[in-house]
Amino acid sequence: MRRIALYGKGGIGKSTTTSNLSIVLAKKGYTVMQIGCDPKADSTRMLTGGERITPILKTLRQGKDGVTLDQLVTKGDYGIYCAECGGPTPGVGCAGRGIISAFERLDALNAFNELKPDFVLYDVLGDVVCGGFAMPLRKGYAEEVYIVTSGELMSLYAAENIALAVSQFSQKGYARLCGIIQNSRNVENEDKLISDLAAEIGVRVVTRIPRDKVVQECESARSTVASFFDDGAYVRAITVLADEIISKKENR
Ligand code: ADP
Ligand code: SF4
Ligand code: MG
Repeated sequence: MRRIALYGKGGIGKSTTTSNLSIVLAKKGYTVMQIGCDPKADSTRMLTGGERITPILKTLRQGKDGVTLDQLVTKGDYGIYCAECGGPTPGVGCAGRGIISAFERLDALNAFNELKPDFVLYDVLGDVVCGGFAMPLRKGYAEEVYIVTSGELMSLYAAENIALAVSQFSQKGYARLCGIIQNSRNVENEDKLISDLAAEIGVRVVTRIPRDKVVQECESARSTVASFFDDGAYVRAITVLADEIISKKENR
């Protein structure tokens, strides 16, 4: 089992990228689990026909002691296991702690042994990389980290902070930064801005995903692009990412 986290600024395209990656991996025959770690709890919505699944924390808050795995994990397109950590009541509690409570409950229910995913993809908000949102990097939850960024200033700034946080953990042998995923916004000089950042933090730009209206068209149909299409510029860029991730396994 490989545990991979995609971090990035809010709204940058983490959930879109992660969901399309899940589909491409699933189409290649792998068992995939996608876990949304953003209080928005909408990571997996394009894998479940646009339907928002109930976040784990909400289910737990409803005080159900005898919660079962199938109440926390929903099967989406191509059999992808979907879960959303969710968040605390706004203004009360720590979102990061919430993520850990959700992970602990999945562990207690033996989720990974039961579902046997080849890949667990964590889709994590990275605006603040406080102790809370760094949680998936701790205790071996996510071992490989990719940062999703565009060439926009705030996104690059978040990416730099995420890289810094990951480097703290990699020194302890927890998680390592594997690359940057460019989700293009057609900013002037975008490729160079992102290549420069990658060089600065010592990783590669694994793929450059184009800004493509096919994403919105598929969203209107409540679907990922990759479940509709096997080809096209968008799917090809996601496939480059999937192949890179798969090949890393062979290099390990
Ligand atoms: P995040 O999970 O980082 O908050 P989302 O994945 O929800 O961001 O993306 C926000 C919106 O950006 C999506 O609704 C989608 O329409 C759009 N989007 C993301 N990536 C692309 C892309 N490569 N091309 C066009 N639109 C995109
Ligand atoms: Fe939010 Fe982080 Fe503070 Fe927790 S530690 S409340 S996740 S900013
Ligand atoms: Mg998201």
